[in-house]
Amino acid sequence: MRIILLGPPGAGKGTQASNIANEFHITHISTGEIFRKIQKEGTSLGLKAKEYIDKGLLVPDDLTVEIIDDRLDRKDCIEGFILDGFPRTIIQAKALDDKLKAKKISLDLVINIQLKNQLIINRITGRRICENCGENYHTNFYPPKIEGKCDLCGGQLFQRKDDQEETIKKRLEVYTNQTQPLIDYYKDKGILHTINGEQSIEGVFKDIKIILQGVL
Ligand code: ADP
Ligand code: AMP
Repeated sequence: MRIILLGPPGAGKGTQASNIANEFHITHISTGEIFRKIQKEGTSLGLKAKEYIDKGLLVPDDLTVEIIDDRLDRKDCIEGFILDGFPRTIIQAKALDDKLKAKKISLDLVINIQLKNQLIINRITGRRICENCGENYHTNFYPPKIEGKCDLCGGQLFQRKDDQEETIKKRLEVYTNQTQPLIDYYKDKGILHTINGEQSIEGVFKDIKIILQGVL
């Protein structure tokens, strides 16, 4: 199964992609996580990406497409994948179409998680990430058992630099201008499913499972 999760920052793409990956055993690919990893490793590509990420901007298409191109060639993508945070521009979507065409495969579905801007801000400002394993928490909606510590590995939780209120405004503007047009792009291809992202994590996942079971 080849799936894209679309939606504004903070919609719950990463949370739901993990749920899908765990339940359906599909490889989860998050470009945001790849960028954070190479940034932590201090590679030149990672440091270049950081300049854009910290300002709430998109990393340039050529860098992003190169990263996804390599990632999709790995063995764990043969049976399928969930893309979380990619594509984010029409140029990226077209590059993905070309890549899949060359591999003689196609996308099964695109799930668009929709929610109001005010909820987005609450979601993002409360988001905390484990510095060690990358697990995602929320101070109110999905708190760790011990404050500031990861339930899975005991790692320290931190707030992403780009999750501060000033940067969020920029990210929402970038989403509206550059990413939202993908909704029509995939609607025109007949593979778009829009779900209500204003429900609980479990409620959103229930809706996603109904859609997946219809395609499986
Ligand atoms: P995205 O990957 O779309 O940016 P995340 O999955 O990281 O979004 O979710 C953003 C924050 O909101 C996280 O802290 C997550 O724990 C929390 N969250 C995700 N989905 C929900 C939901 N349905 N209800 C409440 N909080 C949620
Ligand atoms: P995310 O973890 O999905 O919220 O992504 C964090 C940041 O990484 C984004 O705000 C962008 O700066 C960058 N990023 C992630 N995915 C992409 C992409 N597909 N294209 C460009 N930049 C991206």
